[in-house]
Amino acid sequence: MGTITRNVFMCLLLTTISARVILEDYEKTRNNLLEEETVHALGGKLKLDDEEETLNKILMQLKEVEINEYFKNPHRFNFSKHYFTYRDEISNSKVYKIIKRMPKGGALHIHSTLMLGADYLLNLTYEDHLYTCYTDDVFELQFSEVIPQRYCPVKWTLLSELRNASDDVKAFDAAIKQHFTLYTKEQEDIDSVWKRFNKVYYAIKSLILYRPVREKFFYESLKRFYNDNVMYIEIRSGLHSLYELDGTQHERMYMVKLYQNITKKFREDYPDFIGIKLIVTKHRGSDIDQIRQALDFARQIKREVPEMFAGFDLVGQEDKGKPLVDFLPALLEAKEEMNFYFHGGETNWFGMATDENLIDAVLLGSKRIGHGYALTKHPTLMATMYKNDIAVEVNVISNAVLSLVRDVRNHPLAVYLALDFPVVLSSDDPGVWGAEPLSHDFYISFVGVASRHADLRTLKQLALNSIKYSALDSNEKENFYNVFDIRWREFVKNEITLNS
Ligand SMILES: [Zn+2]
Repeated sequence: MGTITRNVFMCLLLTTISARVILEDYEKTRNNLLEEETVHALGGKLKLDDEEETLNKILMQLKEVEINEYFKNPHRFNFSKHYFTYRDEISNSKVYKIIKRMPKGGALHIHSTLMLGADYLLNLTYEDHLYTCYTDDVFELQFSEVIPQRYCPVKWTLLSELRNASDDVKAFDAAIKQHFTLYTKEQEDIDSVWKRFNKVYYAIKSLILYRPVREKFFYESLKRFYNDNVMYIEIRSGLHSLYELDGTQHERMYMVKLYQNITKKFREDYPDFIGIKLIVTKHRGSDIDQIRQALDFARQIKREVPEMFAGFDLVGQEDKGKPLVDFLPALLEAKEEMNFYFHGGETNWFGMATDENLIDAVLLGSKRIGHGYALTKHPTLMATMYKNDIAVEVNVISNAVLSLVRDVRNHPLAVYLALDFPVVLSSDDPGVWGAEPLSHDFYISFVGVASRHADLRTLKQLALNSIKYSALDSNEKENFYNVFDIRWREFVKNEITLNS
């Protein structure tokens, strides 16, 4: 080999080696970055034991099959469509089946009236003594011994009479069910869906203010959540007066006791259910005096039934209601006496009063923030929340149905998960859109929103977060962690058997 040839050869060799070194370095840096992202994401620091690792492999294989199928066939990707178009297919997913059986800890953002679906509510309309004021525009219900005296544009009639007089009971019942659900095949904007939401809310409320029906409704709610492996619930409730058949109205405190007694009864039947706590709510359309009265009622509950009390919140469509600043004097007065769990930033509007509710919620010391959908637009506030460990209560399906987001891949939860931001998953009003109490929200978040790499650790951490960020005291939390641990181990063992 001549000198020139040898030099060329050496040159080529060195170039190849250095290209390989560059490539290896590049890959190492790339892997390090990916690894760092995984470790710093929610659940990334959890260590799985051998059994959990086995289940994780099974779970991730199933998840990959689902996601790869969607990636190849984006037109079949359900999570970019409206929830109602794929809701009934969810139960076919193998990933879903595992999530359904998984203990999910607590549901911390649930509204009392909207916990159950239309089928069960329809059954309740078969109870005796139910009158209705029923026209094309009006649907009101009231249980009574005698014909109700309240105004009705037609006449109050027993629902059973109308049902018996109809030619087609099935069609009659289907029409009744329509008043208890938001389900629709129509495209809707945010205002029209909220308009229907309010109508449905009032229809259901008019059915369940009757004390015996409320008792059934609430016991059944606990059962559905428990069967969905939810072990604890924080319920937002306006705690309205219940009535008896003869028209007697109960004190509002009666409802608190009813929640307490039924939960006690439920725990006798299902001893590993942890329990409930109440977040007292008032509509954000109220004036400041009404807010003061509601805060006084919250103070009373805290004083008389402290074990049932979590805190206070304002409810109703945020964009249409008054912002938190409007009630500042009353809220500041109460700030030291009770915990707040404010809805905030349930909006797509940036820089509007609704969006800035997030700022006031944090300044008022809110322990968690309901939705916080607009939060990623406020990095300074996010940093404060991260530092002070204020959790966001994310309700993905609610945000989809109430028209904040269409394709759930765009939901800000993806960012919260990537940042290991304090976050809990809940379902807001699952009954009204016919979702499972919490499993649909977990499944959609896991497969549709979280990274393809998010695994069993993400799911477990989300469940653990719901204990950590709950309103339970430290003893209650310790007990919850223990009960959860037992349930979790059982779940892991069972899933390995079922899936191998
Ligand atoms: Zn809510």
